[in-house]
Amino acid sequence: MSAQIIDGNALSASIREQLAQRSAALAARGVTPCLAVILAGEDAASAVYVRNKVAACEKAGMRSIRDVYAADVKPETVLARIEALNADPAVHGILVQLPLPKQFDAAAVLEAIAPEKDVDGFHAENVGALMQGTPRFIPCTPYGVMKMLESRGVKLKGAEVVIVGRSNIVGKPMAMLLLAQSATVTVCHSQTRDLAFHTRRADVLVAAVGRARMITGDMIKPGATVIDVGINRGEDGKLCGDVDFASAKEVAGLITPVPGGVGPMTITMLLANTIEAAERAARGE
Ligand code: NDP
Repeated sequence: MSAQIIDGNALSASIREQLAQRSAALAARGVTPCLAVILAGEDAASAVYVRNKVAACEKAGMRSIRDVYAADVKPETVLARIEALNADPAVHGILVQLPLPKQFDAAAVLEAIAPEKDVDGFHAENVGALMQGTPRFIPCTPYGVMKMLESRGVKLKGAEVVIVGRSNIVGKPMAMLLLAQSATVTVCHSQTRDLAFHTRRADVLVAAVGRARMITGDMIKPGATVIDVGINRGEDGKLCGDVDFASAKEVAGLITPVPGGVGPMTITMLLANTIEAAERAARGE
């Protein structure tokens, strides 16, 4: 058996077409959706993510602002900049690229972003709204995963869903979204006793760990949907996911590749959240 691929690039392209139309409708009303991205420090992967986000905005006809600070920047400098962006009506979305250098209290920085411009959905107020089932912004990576599942009509009601990873940016919001769709959700982590016991009974398996190819075919239920959020460098130096694609695709029913899976969807949903923020601002909300 060989799994069908859920192609994140193709799905992204079709969603971005719809977003471009919404962006054009806003432009016709004199509003250009604008995302401000703040990067502090010299983390190479973060610099690439920021570049990709800015490039995606420009391609979608949106405006972007990129503020880059040295690794030893004072937190007050960044907080003052966030305050200015909060007050600027031409800016609709603000994103601080994580991780931040060690002198920062990351939670305090995220709390400084105005909740209505928090397009990553990491502000405590927005996390709370998601938890209550009334999200203002859905965090981009889990949002992208939900779109991928929806695009293939994957049944979630009553399904056994297993998420590996419990981070605030992927695992936990993912669990909330799947729970809201009436899936039975299990969240595994580094202290889970028998990981394979859980993964093997998953109708839908979401891997968000950050360990190259750790989920192998023998850990997957035949016919399962496998979503690979991980972005890692394998020993061969190539980009790979948390799932061992070669063995997993022989067992799974549907599977996302890395690269070309969840990654492009994350950026697409960031654009979606920014356009949503601009539309709300244009409506005076
Ligand atoms: P974190 O490091 O914050 O979280 C990793 C999670 O995996 C933790 O909950 C950890 O458990 C768990 N874990 C670690 N080792 C094991 C193990 N052996 N068995 C079971 N669980 C384990 O990572 P993120 O959530 O930020 O990211 C996860 C991956 O997704 C990374 O590869 C990252 O690069 C990628 N990513 C991809 C995105 C995309 O757009 N495709 C966007 C965001 C992230 P514990 O809590 O106990 O430590």
